[in-house]
Amino acid sequence: MSKVELRNISKSYDKQKDVLNGIDLCIEEGEFFVLVGPSGSGKSTLLRMIAGLEDISGGILKINEKIVNHVAPKERDLSMVFQNYALYPHLTVEQNILFGLKARKVDKQEQQKRLKETAEMLGLTELLKRKPRELSGGQRQRVALGRSVVSHAPLCLMDEPLSNLDAKLRANMRVQIRRLQKQLGLTMIYVTHDQVEAMTMGDRIMVLNDGKIQQVGKPITLYNEPENLFVASFIGSPK
Ligand code: ADP
Ligand code: MG
Repeated sequence: MSKVELRNISKSYDKQKDVLNGIDLCIEEGEFFVLVGPSGSGKSTLLRMIAGLEDISGGILKINEKIVNHVAPKERDLSMVFQNYALYPHLTVEQNILFGLKARKVDKQEQQKRLKETAEMLGLTELLKRKPRELSGGQRQRVALGRSVVSHAPLCLMDEPLSNLDAKLRANMRVQIRRLQKQLGLTMIYVTHDQVEAMTMGDRIMVLNDGKIQQVGKPITLYNEPENLFVASFIGSPK
């Protein structure tokens, strides 16, 4: 498990105006934490900073009590799932799932053990020899999840992983992702612009608008006690 702390985090691209400002946040071990906000509010930027894929302009980022501002992505012991799946088109499902383990020189026997367990968990056993183009959108997304699960990283970051799927599949995948997160005891930071997804999946939710935190709390608290009009209208509370 993994704890993530952000202290006064800010970000500007090329010295332009801040796209994130004064972000203070502590995500507990084993928590399913949702970042929600409209397009352009800074969700992906924040997630990419936690992953180490984007420089931090100001503030301190800690993972497991350790300051990681300048720690390389592969040293952070986390996995990330992207919106567009980012599968390698020329590799099979099996090769896509094992890619990260090969790069980290996990031994062959351990690779096969994890592959088997991951494929079973996600219903991919019959699809291992296929290429991404021979899969449906939902199957591709399960491969992307598999690549994250197989890493055994205690911290998982997901950036709008379901936005390319149809409504029915999305509802089904929400349940699968929650189940996986519980079963594996992952700390999850999950980005979405979908209020329903946020409300149904999050232990806690952070609402972001224009680079600033609007409110952090349990879904029921945000619904019943929105701290401002933005939260109220975004979450759709009666007030
Ligand atoms: P979200 O994921 O919530 O849609 P983003 O984090 O992608 O928001 O973007 C936040 C803001 O930062 C937007 O105004 C966007 O245009 C800007 N932005 C994102 N990436 C870059 C980049 N590489 N260079 C310059 N500006 C960027
Ligand atoms: Mg985004």
